Order: sequence, then C-alpha cells, then structure tokens
Amino acid sequence: MSISLLVRTSFFIIFTSLFIGCSSNDKKGNNTAFLNGNLKKGDLKRNSMLRNPEFSIPVDPNLARSLTYSRIRTQAPFVAMTFDDGPHPVHTPRLLDILRARNIKATFFVVGTNTRRYPHIIRRMIAEGHEVGNHTVNHKYLSRISIEEARAEVLGCERAIVAACGVKPTILRPPGGHINNRVKVWLNREFGYSTIMWAVDPEDWKRPGSGVVAQRIVTETDAGEIILAHDIHGPTIAAMPRALDGLLSKGYRFVTVSQLISIERRQVVKNGRLNEDYALENS
Ligand SMILES: [Zn+2]
Repeated sequence: MSISLLVRTSFFIIFTSLFIGCSSNDKKGNNTAFLNGNLKKGDLKRNSMLRNPEFSIPVDPNLARSLTYSRIRTQAPFVAMTFDDGPHPVHTPRLLDILRARNIKATFFVVGTNTRRYPHIIRRMIAEGHEVGNHTVNHKYLSRISIEEARAEVLGCERAIVAACGVKPTILRPPGGHINNRVKVWLNREFGYSTIMWAVDPEDWKRPGSGVVAQRIVTETDAGEIILAHDIHGPTIAAMPRALDGLLSKGYRFVTVSQLISIERRQVVKNGRLNEDYALENS
C-alpha cells in the first residue's frame, strides 16, 4: 500500500468513525448506538455510561422482611437481572462474558441437575460476583407436590450448589412461578429462604426474537424491579447486549437480588461508607 493511499484510507476511517459517532447521539446527548445494535468492540471501554458502577452493598439475609419479592419500593435506579434454569454449558458462559464486559452482577436461579453437571460454571458465577439462587433439583412445581417431595427438591438443589461453590443460597425462585403462601412460609421457616418472583417478564421462553426480548426489557423496567429471563435459550443471550446497554443508558444500575433486598433496608454502602441517599455521582 502506497503512503498516499494509506493516508487517504486513514482519513476515511477517521471521518467514518466521526460520522457514526455523531449519528448515534440523540437530541438528549445519549449515545444510542447500542440500542440500534451498532455497538462496536471497544465502545464499552470508551463510554463509561455503559459500564455498571462498582457497588459495595453488604448482604444480610436477616434483613429480608418480606416472604417474597418481585420488586422493592425505591426511587433509586437499581434493578436486578435474573436468569433461570441453567447453567447451560454454552449459553451461560457466553452470558457471563457479556455481563463481565459491563461489570453487571446478576442472579442465577439454577436447577440442581444442571448444577451437578456443570459445577465449574457455578464457581465462575460466584467468582465474578453474581448470586446463585435455588430453582429446585428437577424444576418441580412446589405448590403441586407433597411436602416430602418439595423438601427433597429444595434441599437437593441447595446441596448441589454448596457442593459446587461452597456458598449456601438464601433465595429461591419457584419453578414456573407456582407457589402459594403456605409454601412461602414453609420455605422461610425451614430453610430461611425468601421467595423471589419478578416484575418484568419478556416471555423470552416463547422465543419472540432477540429484538423483542431486548425491547420489552428496556421499555418495561422500572426502578427497584426484578427482571426475569432464561440463560438456556440462545436468542435470550443474543438479546442481552441490547437489553443491558439499553437499561444502563437509561440510568439503571444492576445489583444482585439480595443486594436489592438490602437496598430496601437502606443499607447501601459506597466506598466503605453508609450511603443513605443512594447518590450515584462519581460512582
Ligand atoms: Zn424455571
């Protein structure tokens, strides 16, 4: 390549980059490249807006004052992203890469059979700051089985998680959302679990397409809400970059479910200090 061609090529690349950069900013100055699916490699590092801040939020299961949560009441822009039914040997590691690139901590409600099969993925979740919750051994509907069977399902999953990573879960999501108050009380009294439902359901398991899943998550989520998705479906994983960047660009910040519960009790600590007003500046 001649020097003049090299120079012309360089100018073309610079001009093209500038043009794309400008065209992807809307009137409010928000970079919307990620919403259009135009996020390029390296953009995350350049745009700090697309990186979830580091939060130091102490978790104390004793602080949970409700039997069940689908959201917390807060004006602060915290949300919790949750993924059910994994771990999946291919999709879950891909998702973990997507989360790590954005410093997003999520919550995984894993089933015992998959946990026994892929314990290294559970260990990776814990090592990267995510929370692991109980989703029973065989994805059984807890309100439709005997107490003995339910106990085996809950304990079996708990033991599989502890065997994999050494951390005992404190939250449970009932498979299929099938639960009643009697079972919630029993889960709390016998195992100390809070039952975790959801406020946002993109119905990704019906496979409406990645664009629809991403759009539903971005448009339907409000502060304090728990978002449901499944890390066993490829299109769900493909939806995540747009969904997560869309929420980050709207100012939402991601925490684990147990951190969200702690935030409700105003136990937010930032830089080692108790932070009662959730100020996110400089975070
Ligand atoms: Zn499930």
